[in-house]
Amino acid sequence: MGDLLLEGFNKIADAKRIVIKVGTSTLTYANGKLNLRRIESLVKVLADIKNSGKEVLLVTSGAIGVGAAHLGLTERPRDMGGKQAAAAVGQCELMYIYDKHFSEHGHVTAQVLLTRDVIDDDNRKTNVINTIHRLLEYGAVPIVNENDTVSFEEIEFGDNDTLSAVVAVLSGADALIILTDIDGVYTSDPRINSDAVFIPLVEKIDDNLRKAASGAGSSRGTGGMMTKLHAAEMASAQGISTVIMNGCDPSRLYDIFEGKPVGTLII
Ligand code: GLU
Repeated sequence: MGDLLLEGFNKIADAKRIVIKVGTSTLTYANGKLNLRRIESLVKVLADIKNSGKEVLLVTSGAIGVGAAHLGLTERPRDMGGKQAAAAVGQCELMYIYDKHFSEHGHVTAQVLLTRDVIDDDNRKTNVINTIHRLLEYGAVPIVNENDTVSFEEIEFGDNDTLSAVVAVLSGADALIILTDIDGVYTSDPRINSDAVFIPLVEKIDDNLRKAASGAGSSRGTGGMMTKLHAAEMASAQGISTVIMNGCDPSRLYDIFEGKPVGTLII
């Protein structure tokens, strides 16, 4: 397994086009307000990775949580209208802060908002693919989220883990990195079971693993480990490896691009 792990991380280190997904729990404090220090450091690392010659696409969550906090709501709305309205507010704040920090490092950002019906329609999907490719050609950083303000059950991705895999496939990425609030995949939920064992490498997502991952996710985001594994499965079906790692220290992304094992690698 050691060889396979190192080989897998060497491949990730060589990846040219990378999709990085960041979840609400990484971007915000428990009260929903933006964790400015973390965002600043994440953007700086991504800008630097881009400077090193790689192409970076960011899939961001946080619109609903950040919008709710900005509106002074005591909790994340549960009804569709509340979520749609909060997302409209939060998406602005997110893009403002990303654009501000990327600009400080000389990079241009681009907002891309998607719903599932767009991807299900061949014509519209082609337009999305063309736009993403053109943005990368222009050297911009596409920042993608679900278009939560117009999204409802029938047309939504539902969680940004799935969206990140869709973006990885559409953009022809070489690697998908999912930043979350846990170090990676364990044999059971380490927040509940102290005997949970960390899994550095996943070669096949089977029922045992799915069962291990079925615990609830964080209260601030939408997905849990289950949706992350599902995303990794979608990516690996197209030959794209996924890393699930803790986003609390974005500088650990440097380790990944030096071929050092971090988090769980799913090949
Ligand atoms: N699109 C949602 C948001 O920006 C996040 C969905 C998720 O957490 O997976 O709030």
